[in-house]
Amino acid sequence: MQIETLSLITAIQSIVLAAMLWMGSQSAAGSAGFSLRLRSVALGVEGLGWGALALQAWMTPAQLLLGGNALNLLAQALVVVAVRMLLGEPPRIRLVVVIALLGWMSVSWFGLIDPNYRLRTFFGSLAILANLLLQAQALLNGRSRARTLMLVLCAVSALLLLWRNAMLWFALVAPVSAAEQGVGNYLYLLFAGMQPVFASIAFLLMYSDVLQGKLRMLARTDALTGVSNRLAVGELAVKMLATAARTRQSVGVLMLDADHFKKVNDRFGHAGGDQVLLELMASVTATLRAGDEVGRVGGEEFVVLAPNTSLSGAVTLGERIRQTLATTPVIIDGEALNLTVSIGVAVALPGDRDVAGVLHRADMALYAAKHNGRDCVMSAVDLEVADAAREAVADVVR
Ligand code: GH3
Ligand code: MG
Ligand code: MG
Repeated sequence: MQIETLSLITAIQSIVLAAMLWMGSQSAAGSAGFSLRLRSVALGVEGLGWGALALQAWMTPAQLLLGGNALNLLAQALVVVAVRMLLGEPPRIRLVVVIALLGWMSVSWFGLIDPNYRLRTFFGSLAILANLLLQAQALLNGRSRARTLMLVLCAVSALLLLWRNAMLWFALVAPVSAAEQGVGNYLYLLFAGMQPVFASIAFLLMYSDVLQGKLRMLARTDALTGVSNRLAVGELAVKMLATAARTRQSVGVLMLDADHFKKVNDRFGHAGGDQVLLELMASVTATLRAGDEVGRVGGEEFVVLAPNTSLSGAVTLGERIRQTLATTPVIIDGEALNLTVSIGVAVALPGDRDVAGVLHRADMALYAAKHNGRDCVMSAVDLEVADAAREAVADVVR
């Protein structure tokens, strides 16, 4: 196959795929959506570069050199920015522009002013390598299969560049142009021609990965307070109890419910109530240790999971939270509001993996705290003691 034919196939493939990506990404929102559109533009520009190579018979060598390389370097610059934006890294636009300009100027210099195909390829490769490094640096800041795939593609591209340069420097007869026929050059172009499609698919996989991560997080985050929601609390509890079972430690579980919250809403409106919930959440979070987890499991109900905590430790923690809230008025609409909470405490003993059971015990203790007059902490053991006392009284009466 002629190099022109190969280039034409790559050009058509890239441009069609770019158009498909562009159309498919129109409804994609946020910076991830923008990065996908940018990636499709990059692919289109890359396709045009290959198109120039395919149409070289109708162009002057200077046009091909200046235009083709400009398109190629622009496409790479866009790819780097798109990848970095997708991964939430600073895009480094200035650096990318400098790399593209230096690359283009050196390639033009050694192509037109002081023709030297080896040096031209060397400086062009240097620009590509810098772009690959900027991508790799962003990719290494996290872990996922799609990132690994993309890293492998970057590594393959870098190896191809090394091989191409080595071929040029160590070949007995130095080639003088990219279009030169030769097995090595041909193989290089064959791989290079497949690369736009492979890299775009890897980008799409990473995009889907990023989106899934976002969805996972949204599905587990409470929209008002930003803490874990009921689903996430359940998952966290399962994990924490499994770890505690392995390390033979107990886990404290606290169930909190704001007292008379309906009155807060009646007085300040629902939006005011929301504001109070945010303040409440901030105060609770401030009293916790690193490693403790808090989640919102109902309107004004929260759960605290405290790893490596005994029942008495959990009661102490509950008492600390209760006291903090009782003594810190929430300022709302310029008014000071004294909001209290009732807290039910239970503990999962070492080896206990029954999440539903311990949550239920904490819930029952909370129920008892409400009955006990609110603004207090009750534990599951208090309930057992109370039950035992009731039974004893019943026995005596009998
Ligand atoms: P108690 O002391 O028995 O807990 O009394 P309470 O008024 O707090 O009663 P309960 O816990 O049963 O009701 C919770 C109230 O909290 C009901 C609802 O009006 C309010 N609420 C629930 N979710 C939200 C929310 O997201 N925002 C606001 N502003 N209010 C909420
Ligand atoms: Mg309540
Ligand atoms: Mg409630």
